[in-house]
Amino acid sequence: MNETGRRGPLVVVIEDEPALAESVRFALETEGFDTVGAVDGVDGVATVRKHRPALVLLDVMLPGMTGLDVCRQIRRDSDVPIIMLTARDTEADKVAGLELGADDYVTKPFSMRELMARVRSQIRRSSRSGQFIESNEVLRGGRITLDIDAHEVRVDGEVVELRPKEFELLETLMRRTNRLSGRDVIIDEVWGSSYFGDTKTLDVHIKRLRQKLETDPSNPVQIVTVRGLGYKFVDG
Ligand code: CA
Repeated sequence: MNETGRRGPLVVVIEDEPALAESVRFALETEGFDTVGAVDGVDGVATVRKHRPALVLLDVMLPGMTGLDVCRQIRRDSDVPIIMLTARDTEADKVAGLELGADDYVTKPFSMRELMARVRSQIRRSSRSGQFIESNEVLRGGRITLDIDAHEVRVDGEVVELRPKEFELLETLMRRTNRLSGRDVIIDEVWGSSYFGDTKTLDVHIKRLRQKLETDPSNPVQIVTVRGLGYKFVDG
């Protein structure tokens, strides 16, 4: 069960680092997924067999049984999409993982936004979980339309040019339309571990988005400030 009480597609997170596992599961649940965690390979294989999830996130570096062995075991009786979490310098692991049947991999350190994009992509492609996912490739709210695949934003039908981070920021906000997007969640998803700026970086990007998207940027009606907490995209 996620924070809004809806039940979404289930993702099993097999990761032995508690802090990383927790932040990944939080990001997934914020996106509407349910999650179950496993801290080693044996537990991971058992959890996947028991819960039959829509997707598995699998760390390669696990105590005991390695992620590659886990992948091999899961593949014996399941075609669930598997995304491997690999360290930067383990090219051989990535290749081996894909050969063993993993569908994709993400290299640590990764941004939560990048990871969530990969998760959504794999779940969309997976026919067995297709029942869970409505097509959400075009996000709409008020005068604004954001087309993920075309990477295009329109206001009242007119294309507006956004920089890459502005696009990612708008997408992050629109995926939580009419709900609070907390500052930490936004920064984690849009900038991830590459966020070196002070907290003003986010506000500067918000300001630019308002200038490009709002009729009156000084009185925004779609990208509103939630004082002290973050921002909210309003389906005006
Ligand atoms: Ca690990």
